[in-house]
Amino acid sequence: MSDDQNNHHFDTISVHGGVEPEPHTGAIMTPIYQTSTFVQSAPGQHSGYEYSRSDNPTRTALQASIAALEGGKHGLVFASGLAAIDTVLRLLKPGDHVVVGDDVYGGTYRLFERVIARYGITFSWVNLTDIDAVKAAFRPETRLLWLETPTNPMMRLADIRQLAAIAPEGVRVAVDNTFASPASQQPLKMGADIVMHSSTKYLGGHSDVVGGALVFNDDELYTTLKFLQNAVGAVPGPMDCFLVLRGIKTLHLRMARHSENAGAIAEMLAAHPAVERVLYPGLPDHPQYDLARQQMRYAGGMISFIVNDEQKAREICTRTRIFSLAESLGGVESLIEHPYSMTHASTADSEIAVPPGLVRLSVGIEYVDDLKADLTSALG
Ligand SMILES: *Cc1c(COP(=O)(O)O)cnc(C)c1O
Repeated sequence: MSDDQNNHHFDTISVHGGVEPEPHTGAIMTPIYQTSTFVQSAPGQHSGYEYSRSDNPTRTALQASIAALEGGKHGLVFASGLAAIDTVLRLLKPGDHVVVGDDVYGGTYRLFERVIARYGITFSWVNLTDIDAVKAAFRPETRLLWLETPTNPMMRLADIRQLAAIAPEGVRVAVDNTFASPASQQPLKMGADIVMHSSTKYLGGHSDVVGGALVFNDDELYTTLKFLQNAVGAVPGPMDCFLVLRGIKTLHLRMARHSENAGAIAEMLAAHPAVERVLYPGLPDHPQYDLARQQMRYAGGMISFIVNDEQKAREICTRTRIFSLAESLGGVESLIEHPYSMTHASTADSEIAVPPGLVRLSVGIEYVDDLKADLTSALG
Protein backbone atom coordinates (compact mmCIF):
# COMPACT_ATOMS: atom_id res chain seq x y z
CA MET A 1 0.00 0.00 0.00
CA SER A 2 2.66 2.47 1.06
CA ASP A 3 4.08 3.57 -2.29
CA ASP A 4 1.02 4.62 -4.17
CA GLN A 5 -1.46 5.26 -1.40
CA ASN A 6 -1.61 8.95 -2.29
CA ASN A 7 -3.59 7.88 -5.33
CA HIS A 8 -6.17 5.99 -3.37
CA HIS A 9 -9.52 7.30 -2.22
CA PHE A 10 -9.89 8.19 1.45
CA ASP A 11 -12.16 5.16 2.00
CA THR A 12 -9.40 2.82 0.83
CA ILE A 13 -6.80 4.63 2.91
CA SER A 14 -9.02 4.23 6.02
CA VAL A 15 -8.89 0.46 5.60
CA HIS A 16 -5.31 0.00 4.38
CA GLY A 17 -3.29 3.18 4.83
CA GLY A 18 0.12 2.70 6.46
CA VAL A 19 -0.48 -0.92 7.47
CA GLU A 20 0.84 -4.17 6.00
CA PRO A 21 0.14 -7.80 6.88
CA GLU A 22 2.62 -9.05 9.50
CA PRO A 23 5.54 -10.44 7.42
CA HIS A 24 6.39 -13.60 9.44
CA THR A 25 2.92 -15.10 9.84
CA GLY A 26 0.79 -13.20 7.33
CA ALA A 27 -1.54 -11.98 10.10
CA ILE A 28 -3.67 -9.47 8.23
CA MET A 29 -4.32 -7.32 11.30
CA THR A 30 -1.45 -5.60 13.09
CA PRO A 31 -0.56 -7.71 16.17
CA ILE A 32 -0.59 -6.18 19.65
CA TYR A 33 3.13 -6.27 20.47
CA GLN A 34 2.59 -6.32 24.23
CA THR A 35 6.24 -6.12 25.16
CA SER A 36 8.40 -3.53 26.90
CA THR A 37 11.73 -4.60 25.40
CA PHE A 38 13.28 -6.37 22.37
CA VAL A 39 16.16 -8.86 22.34
CA GLN A 40 19.41 -7.68 20.73
CA SER A 41 21.81 -9.94 18.83
CA ALA A 42 24.84 -8.02 20.08
CA PRO A 43 25.06 -4.86 22.18
CA GLY A 44 23.41 -2.07 20.19
CA GLN A 45 22.39 -4.45 17.37
CA HIS A 46 18.64 -4.78 17.10
CA SER A 47 15.71 -5.04 14.71
CA GLY A 48 14.95 -1.31 14.88
CA TYR A 49 13.11 -1.79 18.15
CA GLU A 50 14.87 -1.67 21.52
CA TYR A 51 12.45 -0.39 24.16
CA SER A 52 8.73 0.36 23.84
CA ARG A 53 8.87 3.98 25.04
CA SER A 54 11.16 4.67 22.08
CA ASP A 55 9.30 2.53 19.53
CA ASN A 56 6.84 -0.34 19.40
CA PRO A 57 5.64 -2.05 16.19
CA THR A 58 1.92 -1.60 16.98
CA ARG A 59 2.58 2.08 17.55
CA THR A 60 4.61 2.35 14.34
CA ALA A 61 1.66 0.98 12.37
CA LEU A 62 -0.76 3.43 13.99
CA GLN A 63 1.57 6.35 13.31
CA ALA A 64 1.76 5.39 9.63
CA SER A 65 -2.00 4.92 9.45
CA ILE A 66 -2.84 8.36 10.89
CA ALA A 67 -0.20 10.03 8.72
CA ALA A 68 -1.83 8.41 5.65
CA LEU A 69 -5.30 9.60 6.72
CA GLU A 70 -4.09 13.19 6.92
CA GLY A 71 -2.04 12.93 3.72
CA GLY A 72 1.07 13.73 5.78
CA LYS A 73 4.60 12.35 5.80
CA HIS A 74 5.15 11.77 9.53
CA GLY A 75 2.84 10.66 12.33
CA LEU A 76 3.51 10.41 16.05
CA VAL A 77 1.06 9.14 18.65
CA PHE A 78 0.72 9.93 22.34
CA ALA A 79 -1.03 8.73 25.48
CA SER A 80 -3.78 11.37 25.06
CA GLY A 81 -4.73 14.35 22.95
CA LEU A 82 -3.41 16.65 25.65
CA ALA A 83 -0.09 14.78 25.72
CA ALA A 84 0.17 15.42 21.97
CA ILE A 85 -0.56 19.14 22.46
CA ASP A 86 1.90 19.33 25.35
CA THR A 87 4.62 17.84 23.17
CA VAL A 88 4.05 20.53 20.51
CA LEU A 89 4.31 23.23 23.20
CA ARG A 90 7.71 21.80 24.21
CA LEU A 91 9.06 23.10 20.90
CA LEU A 92 8.83 26.56 22.54
CA LYS A 93 11.08 28.29 25.06
CA PRO A 94 10.56 31.01 27.68
CA GLY A 95 9.73 34.34 26.02
CA ASP A 96 7.93 32.74 23.07
CA HIS A 97 4.37 33.75 22.26
CA VAL A 98 1.40 31.78 20.93
CA VAL A 99 -1.71 33.06 19.14
CA VAL A 100 -4.64 30.79 19.91
CA GLY A 101 -8.34 30.75 18.97
CA ASP A 102 -10.60 32.06 21.74
CA ASP A 103 -12.96 29.08 21.62
CA VAL A 104 -11.01 25.89 22.25
CA TYR A 105 -11.38 22.62 24.12
CA GLY A 106 -11.42 23.41 27.85
CA GLY A 107 -8.44 21.15 28.54
CA THR A 108 -6.37 22.97 25.93
CA TYR A 109 -7.14 26.26 27.67
CA ARG A 110 -6.19 24.76 31.05
CA LEU A 111 -2.92 23.31 29.70
CA PHE A 112 -1.90 26.60 28.07
CA GLU A 113 -2.85 29.04 30.84
CA ARG A 114 -2.35 26.98 33.99
CA VAL A 115 0.63 24.79 33.07
CA ILE A 116 2.61 26.06 30.09
CA ALA A 117 2.22 29.78 31.00
CA ARG A 118 4.25 29.06 34.17
CA TYR A 119 7.27 28.46 31.96
CA GLY A 120 7.33 32.00 30.58
CA ILE A 121 5.35 31.33 27.39
CA THR A 122 2.51 33.78 26.71
CA PHE A 123 -0.81 33.32 24.90
CA SER A 124 -3.09 35.74 23.05
CA TRP A 125 -6.69 34.51 22.76
CA VAL A 126 -8.15 35.78 19.52
CA ASN A 127 -11.39 35.39 17.57
CA LEU A 128 -9.98 33.65 14.49
CA THR A 129 -12.89 34.72 12.30
CA ASP A 130 -11.60 38.30 12.69
CA ILE A 131 -8.58 38.27 10.39
CA ASP A 132 -7.47 41.80 11.34
CA ALA A 133 -7.46 40.80 15.00
CA VAL A 134 -5.33 37.75 14.14
CA LYS A 135 -2.85 39.86 12.16
CA ALA A 136 -2.65 42.36 15.03
CA ALA A 137 -1.96 39.57 17.53
CA PHE A 138 1.28 38.38 15.89
CA ARG A 139 4.46 39.66 17.56
CA PRO A 140 8.13 39.21 16.68
CA GLU A 141 8.30 36.49 19.37
CA THR A 142 5.22 34.58 18.10
CA ARG A 143 6.14 30.99 17.20
CA LEU A 144 2.82 29.18 17.00
CA LEU A 145 -0.74 29.73 15.83
CA TRP A 146 -3.05 27.16 17.46
CA LEU A 147 -6.54 26.63 16.12
CA GLU A 148 -9.53 24.33 16.19
CA THR A 149 -12.13 24.19 13.45
CA PRO A 150 -15.00 23.64 14.02
CA THR A 151 -14.52 24.93 17.56
CA ASN A 152 -15.65 23.19 20.67
CA PRO A 153 -18.42 23.87 21.64
CA MET A 154 -19.45 27.03 19.75
CA MET A 155 -19.02 25.40 16.30
CA ARG A 156 -17.26 28.40 14.80
CA LEU A 157 -15.04 27.75 11.80
CA ALA A 158 -11.56 29.05 11.10
CA ASP A 159 -10.43 29.45 7.52
CA ILE A 160 -7.36 27.20 7.50
CA ARG A 161 -6.09 28.33 4.08
CA GLN A 162 -6.39 32.00 4.91
CA LEU A 163 -4.81 31.68 8.36
CA ALA A 164 -1.93 29.59 7.01
CA ALA A 165 -1.37 32.24 4.34
CA ILE A 166 -1.18 35.19 6.78
CA ALA A 167 0.95 33.46 9.44
CA PRO A 168 4.33 35.21 9.37
CA GLU A 169 7.57 33.35 8.62
CA GLY A 170 8.67 31.45 11.72
CA VAL A 171 5.12 30.91 13.02
CA ARG A 172 3.97 27.30 12.79
CA VAL A 173 0.27 26.74 12.19
CA ALA A 174 -1.18 23.85 14.19
CA VAL A 175 -4.75 22.61 13.69
CA ASP A 176 -6.64 20.50 16.21
CA ASN A 177 -8.60 18.39 13.72
CA THR A 178 -10.42 16.28 16.31
CA PHE A 179 -13.96 17.53 15.55
CA ALA A 180 -13.87 17.28 11.76
CA SER A 181 -11.60 14.21 11.46
CA PRO A 182 -9.54 13.70 8.28
CA ALA A 183 -12.61 12.20 6.60
CA SER A 184 -13.94 15.75 6.47
CA GLN A 185 -10.86 17.97 6.16
CA GLN A 186 -7.08 17.54 5.80
CA PRO A 187 -5.41 20.71 7.13
CA LEU A 188 -1.88 19.90 5.88
CA LYS A 189 -3.22 20.11 2.34
CA MET A 190 -4.52 23.61 3.17
CA GLY A 191 -1.17 24.91 4.38
CA ALA A 192 -1.09 23.93 8.06
CA ASP A 193 2.25 22.73 9.49
CA ILE A 194 0.96 20.39 12.19
CA VAL A 195 -2.31 18.48 12.60
CA MET A 196 -3.27 17.29 16.05
CA HIS A 197 -5.92 14.74 17.09
CA SER A 198 -7.49 13.49 20.20
CA SER A 199 -7.79 9.94 18.82
CA THR A 200 -10.06 9.30 21.81
CA LYS A 201 -12.80 10.76 19.62
CA TYR A 202 -13.58 9.98 15.96
CA LEU A 203 -10.35 8.12 15.08
CA GLY A 204 -10.88 5.56 17.85
CA GLY A 205 -14.62 5.98 17.45
CA HIS A 206 -15.82 3.47 20.04
CA SER A 207 -15.33 5.26 23.36
CA ASP A 208 -12.89 2.59 24.54
CA VAL A 209 -9.49 4.31 24.41
CA VAL A 210 -7.73 7.61 25.17
CA GLY A 211 -5.03 8.73 22.75
CA GLY A 212 -3.51 11.58 20.79
CA ALA A 213 -1.66 12.12 17.52
CA LEU A 214 0.40 14.63 15.55
CA VAL A 215 0.89 14.61 11.78
CA PHE A 216 3.21 16.87 9.77
CA ASN A 217 5.49 16.88 6.71
CA ASP A 218 8.69 18.59 7.85
CA ASP A 219 11.65 16.20 8.37
CA GLU A 220 13.46 18.40 10.89
CA LEU A 221 10.29 18.79 12.89
CA TYR A 222 10.03 14.99 12.87
CA THR A 223 13.50 14.62 14.37
CA THR A 224 12.65 17.09 17.16
CA LEU A 225 9.17 15.80 17.96
CA LYS A 226 10.31 12.18 17.81
CA PHE A 227 13.08 13.08 20.27
CA LEU A 228 10.48 14.72 22.54
CA GLN A 229 8.10 11.75 22.26
CA ASN A 230 10.81 9.49 23.68
CA ALA A 231 12.41 12.04 26.04
CA VAL A 232 9.11 13.12 27.63
CA GLY A 233 7.57 9.64 27.39
CA ALA A 234 3.82 10.34 27.11
CA VAL A 235 3.39 7.30 24.81
CA PRO A 236 0.36 5.02 24.37
CA GLY A 237 0.57 1.28 25.08
CA PRO A 238 0.32 -1.33 22.31
CA MET A 239 -3.26 -2.32 23.19
CA ASP A 240 -4.40 1.30 22.98
CA CYS A 241 -2.67 1.68 19.61
CA PHE A 242 -4.42 -1.43 18.36
CA LEU A 243 -7.84 -0.10 19.40
CA VAL A 244 -7.30 3.14 17.46
CA LEU A 245 -6.01 1.18 14.44
CA ARG A 246 -9.13 -0.92 14.55
CA GLY A 247 -11.38 2.11 14.84
CA ILE A 248 -9.77 3.83 11.86
CA LYS A 249 -10.80 1.03 9.51
CA THR A 250 -14.42 2.24 9.64
CA LEU A 251 -13.76 5.97 10.00
CA HIS A 252 -15.13 6.82 6.55
CA LEU A 253 -18.35 4.87 7.13
CA ARG A 254 -18.87 6.25 10.60
CA MET A 255 -18.28 9.89 9.61
CA ALA A 256 -20.75 9.64 6.74
CA ARG A 257 -23.42 8.34 9.11
CA HIS A 258 -22.57 10.74 11.97
CA SER A 259 -22.98 13.64 9.53
CA GLU A 260 -26.16 12.37 7.94
CA ASN A 261 -27.78 11.88 11.35
CA ALA A 262 -26.51 15.20 12.69
CA GLY A 263 -27.78 17.08 9.64
CA ALA A 264 -31.31 15.73 10.16
CA ILE A 265 -31.21 16.42 13.90
CA ALA A 266 -29.92 19.97 13.41
CA GLU A 267 -32.86 20.70 11.12
CA MET A 268 -35.30 19.27 13.62
CA LEU A 269 -33.82 21.34 16.47
CA ALA A 270 -33.86 24.52 14.36
CA ALA A 271 -37.62 24.11 13.94
CA HIS A 272 -38.28 23.41 17.64
CA PRO A 273 -39.89 26.23 19.69
CA ALA A 274 -37.79 25.49 22.83
CA VAL A 275 -34.53 25.99 20.93
CA GLU A 276 -33.22 29.53 20.54
CA ARG A 277 -30.31 28.77 18.24
CA VAL A 278 -28.67 25.77 16.63
CA LEU A 279 -24.93 25.87 15.95
CA TYR A 280 -24.13 23.42 13.16
CA PRO A 281 -21.94 24.15 10.12
CA GLY A 282 -24.22 22.12 7.84
CA LEU A 283 -27.18 24.49 8.36
CA PRO A 284 -27.48 27.26 5.74
CA ASP A 285 -28.04 29.84 8.51
CA HIS A 286 -24.63 29.07 10.06
CA PRO A 287 -22.66 32.33 9.61
CA GLN A 288 -19.84 30.40 7.93
CA TYR A 289 -21.90 27.99 5.88
CA ASP A 290 -20.00 28.87 2.70
CA LEU A 291 -16.65 28.25 4.34
CA ALA A 292 -17.95 24.93 5.69
CA ARG A 293 -18.90 23.85 2.20
CA GLN A 294 -15.51 24.85 0.83
CA GLN A 295 -13.38 23.41 3.60
CA MET A 296 -15.27 20.39 4.92
CA ARG A 297 -16.41 17.27 3.12
CA TYR A 298 -18.88 16.53 5.95
CA ALA A 299 -20.44 18.99 8.38
CA GLY A 300 -19.70 16.39 11.09
CA GLY A 301 -21.47 14.79 14.00
CA MET A 302 -21.25 17.61 16.57
CA ILE A 303 -24.16 19.98 17.23
CA SER A 304 -24.54 22.67 19.88
CA PHE A 305 -27.82 24.39 20.64
CA ILE A 306 -28.95 27.09 23.00
CA VAL A 307 -32.08 27.07 25.15
CA ASN A 308 -33.26 29.99 27.22
CA ASP A 309 -31.60 29.17 30.54
CA GLU A 310 -29.20 26.95 32.44
CA GLN A 311 -31.96 25.07 34.29
CA LYS A 312 -33.65 24.07 31.02
CA ALA A 313 -30.32 22.97 29.52
CA ARG A 314 -29.58 20.82 32.56
CA GLU A 315 -33.06 19.25 32.42
CA ILE A 316 -32.70 18.27 28.76
CA CYS A 317 -29.38 16.60 29.52
CA THR A 318 -30.93 14.38 32.19
CA ARG A 319 -34.09 13.47 30.25
CA THR A 320 -32.73 11.75 27.15
CA ARG A 321 -32.61 7.95 27.10
CA ILE A 322 -30.54 7.12 24.02
CA PHE A 323 -28.25 10.15 24.27
CA SER A 324 -26.14 9.37 27.36
CA LEU A 325 -25.07 12.22 29.61
CA ALA A 326 -21.28 12.12 29.37
CA GLU A 327 -18.19 14.07 28.41
CA SER A 328 -16.25 13.12 25.28
CA LEU A 329 -17.52 12.70 21.74
CA GLY A 330 -16.96 10.90 18.48
CA GLY A 331 -18.08 7.41 19.50
CA VAL A 332 -20.70 5.25 17.79
CA GLU A 333 -23.19 6.05 20.58
CA SER A 334 -24.91 9.41 20.98
CA LEU A 335 -23.88 11.62 23.89
CA ILE A 336 -25.31 14.81 25.37
CA GLU A 337 -23.64 17.24 27.74
CA HIS A 338 -23.79 20.66 29.36
CA PRO A 339 -20.47 22.36 28.54
CA TYR A 340 -20.95 25.18 31.08
CA SER A 341 -20.84 22.76 34.02
CA MET A 342 -18.93 19.84 32.44
CA THR A 343 -16.27 19.97 29.67
CA HIS A 344 -15.85 23.74 29.83
CA ALA A 345 -16.15 24.30 33.59
CA SER A 346 -12.42 25.08 33.60
CA THR A 347 -13.09 28.12 31.39
CA ALA A 348 -15.82 29.68 33.63
CA ASP A 349 -15.38 33.45 34.04
CA SER A 350 -12.53 33.40 31.52
CA GLU A 351 -12.36 35.07 28.12
CA ILE A 352 -13.52 31.81 26.53
CA ALA A 353 -16.49 31.02 28.85
CA VAL A 354 -19.53 29.34 27.20
CA PRO A 355 -23.25 30.28 27.57
CA PRO A 356 -25.07 28.57 30.49
CA GLY A 357 -27.99 27.54 28.22
CA LEU A 358 -25.77 25.66 25.78
CA VAL A 359 -26.25 21.92 25.16
CA ARG A 360 -23.76 19.90 23.11
CA LEU A 361 -24.57 16.71 21.22
CA SER A 362 -22.23 14.12 19.83
CA VAL A 363 -24.56 12.44 17.38
CA GLY A 364 -23.89 8.71 17.05
CA ILE A 365 -24.66 6.23 14.31
CA GLU A 366 -27.95 4.89 15.67
CA TYR A 367 -31.20 5.03 13.64
CA VAL A 368 -31.96 8.70 13.14
CA ASP A 369 -35.70 8.60 13.91
CA ASP A 370 -34.98 7.03 17.30
CA LEU A 371 -32.53 9.83 18.06
CA LYS A 372 -35.00 12.52 16.98
CA ALA A 373 -37.79 11.04 19.10
CA ASP A 374 -35.46 10.89 22.12
CA LEU A 375 -34.57 14.58 21.81
CA THR A 376 -38.14 15.65 21.14
CA SER A 377 -39.33 14.04 24.33
CA ALA A 378 -36.43 15.50 26.33
CA LEU A 379 -37.13 19.01 25.01
CA GLY A 380 -40.65 18.71 26.44
C1 LIG B 1 -10.87 15.64 23.73
C2 LIG B 1 -10.21 16.75 23.03
C3 LIG B 1 -8.88 17.09 23.29
C4 LIG B 1 -8.06 16.42 24.36
O1 LIG B 1 -7.84 15.09 24.07
P1 LIG B 1 -7.68 13.93 25.19
O2 LIG B 1 -7.53 12.71 24.37
O3 LIG B 1 -8.92 13.96 26.04
O4 LIG B 1 -6.47 14.28 25.99
C5 LIG B 1 -8.32 18.11 22.54
N1 LIG B 1 -9.03 18.77 21.60
C6 LIG B 1 -10.32 18.48 21.34
C7 LIG B 1 -11.04 19.23 20.27
C8 LIG B 1 -10.96 17.46 22.04
O5 LIG B 1 -12.24 17.20 21.78
